[in-house]
Amino acid sequence: MLTELPRVSLAHLPTPLEPLPRLSAALGGPQLFIKRDDQTGLAGGGNKTRKLEFLLAEARNQGADTLLTVGAPQSNHCRQTAAAAAKSGFRCVLVLGGHPPADLTGNILLDHLLGAELHYAGNETREAKFQAVVAAEKAAGHRVYAVPLGGSTALGATAYALAMHELSHQLRAQDLTLDRIVFASSSAGTHAGLVIGAGMTGFGGEILGISVDHPRDALRGMVAHLATQTAQLLSQAQQYRMSDIHVNADYLGGGYAVMGAAEREAITLFAQHEGILLDPVYTGRAAAGLIDLIRTGVIGADEKVLFWHTGGAPALWAYAHALTA
Ligand SMILES: *Cc1c(COP(=O)(O)O)cnc(C)c1O
Repeated sequence: MLTELPRVSLAHLPTPLEPLPRLSAALGGPQLFIKRDDQTGLAGGGNKTRKLEFLLAEARNQGADTLLTVGAPQSNHCRQTAAAAAKSGFRCVLVLGGHPPADLTGNILLDHLLGAELHYAGNETREAKFQAVVAAEKAAGHRVYAVPLGGSTALGATAYALAMHELSHQLRAQDLTLDRIVFASSSAGTHAGLVIGAGMTGFGGEILGISVDHPRDALRGMVAHLATQTAQLLSQAQQYRMSDIHVNADYLGGGYAVMGAAEREAITLFAQHEGILLDPVYTGRAAAGLIDLIRTGVIGADEKVLFWHTGGAPALWAYAHALTA
């Protein structure tokens, strides 16, 4: 069961559940709330910290000495893995997509400070380079624990099933009932965990992932598959189908990690009405989607809606130009 899975403590939990009164008023829309997983506390925080609590426990139980993972150049997942490794006494090796940047900024700067060893995929695909580095590390005698993109294994996803229990306690304590939870969805782990946790806690609202980079049905398929695997890990027989998974992919903009006017507006609105920092890649895009769904009346003014903040603000520094243009 969920609470019996081995876990190391990395995150400051529970993360706060707070109202967003000034933003709600500015949008003339629903009552908005926020779950502050940008405040998980580990070197800038974010949603990967919850997943890493389970993944590092497995790495330790397997006798690993080196954590290896992969991501985009400004990966929040890689930065949180580097921090978790430092705190727990593992070596950390990261494979980042593309070529080394001219400036060490944002998450890449933090990867360096946290002592991770960085490899760039260059002209190779990220996955090919990752497999090659895993093989080379093993050949060099390191005991490797390889974490897939986003930490989105069944074990990683269980962290968000547990997070739904955390939220459920907070909702009860605040006597609050939500109509929807809206968040940024990309490698399926957060989404799959929330869907399973919603089932376990009897959450009656919608779990709505705003896709950051995948077409709608592709992401629904990924989440349904991972949710089924995660349910198995938790000894539940439940099969999830695509029709169980709610995804909106209308806000893909210029593609992954391309910040446009919609993301910039969302970041500015959250900053200037609530003093909350979103990120340019994930939460900025998800919040832009939320704002548009409010303005177009898809989300009604009488609803209570939670925005689940998944972190990422350290990437803001890498987007200084685009943010102030
Ligand atoms: C990784 C990430 C997400 C997406 O989480 P998944 O579990 O990969 O879907 C959302 N927001 C931020 C800030 C992230 O770093």
